[in-house]
Amino acid sequence: MMSPRAAGGAGTESPGAGRDRIVVAIDGPAASGKSSTAHMVATRAGLYHVDSGALYRAATAAQLRIQPDVSRWTDAQLPKAVALVTLVARPTAFRPMIGGADVDLEIRGPDVTRHVSLVAQIPNVRAWVNDQIRALARQHDVVVDGRDIGTVVFPDADLKVFLVADPWERARRRLVERSARRPSEADIAEETDRLVQRDARDATQTVQAKDAILIDTTTLTQDEQVSRIVALVEAARARETERGG
Ligand code: C5P
Repeated sequence: MMSPRAAGGAGTESPGAGRDRIVVAIDGPAASGKSSTAHMVATRAGLYHVDSGALYRAATAAQLRIQPDVSRWTDAQLPKAVALVTLVARPTAFRPMIGGADVDLEIRGPDVTRHVSLVAQIPNVRAWVNDQIRALARQHDVVVDGRDIGTVVFPDADLKVFLVADPWERARRRLVERSARRPSEADIAEETDRLVQRDARDATQTVQAKDAILIDTTTLTQDEQVSRIVALVEAARARETERGG
């Protein structure tokens, strides 16, 4: 089994060191629409989207490739696993790859989803993810979505948003996203249970920053939530320009 210090090496940077770019942090629980919202905000506001959850998922997928049997995971394997993960720039987003290949389907699969919270609890994995994101933010204007972006990764972000939605609605949206078929009440109930369990496993790191703007999206359309955040980004940019930043 892996100890909490596995992965090694990373975690030396202080948040915001050397940064003079716009950083927008979007945090919230599982399936609160963070990633799709952040992606649309990035496209409309001319920022790069960085999905921190995708990095935790890629680290987990690489670790599962090295050792599919979780009971045989060891400290020595994780640094090798994260070394396989690279971030590649797409027109409006950075996407993780493993060994140079696209892994989007693999990292969204049930095996990775089941184990990602375990891997995400390892401090050196968190330090590795945070270092990757901070390095990108020194080069680009970014919108980063996750759990602890506004609290730990960028406590000085120009704009912090915390997205919440009723668990039933989150589960319903997730199922609609995955299948063209209208989900049954039983399917939604089962998915709600899974989400609530993942919320519990991720509770320590899912923290709303004191200066974050809370948006409850339960009754909002995606376009409404994106428009609200884009307006907030424009206001943050105007403040930055006034300050001469
Ligand atoms: O956002 P997504 O559901 O893809 O995140 C996958 C997992 O990565 C979460 O369940 C959580 O365990 C972890 N995570 C985290 N901190 C973040 C982003 C994701 O611990 N900033």
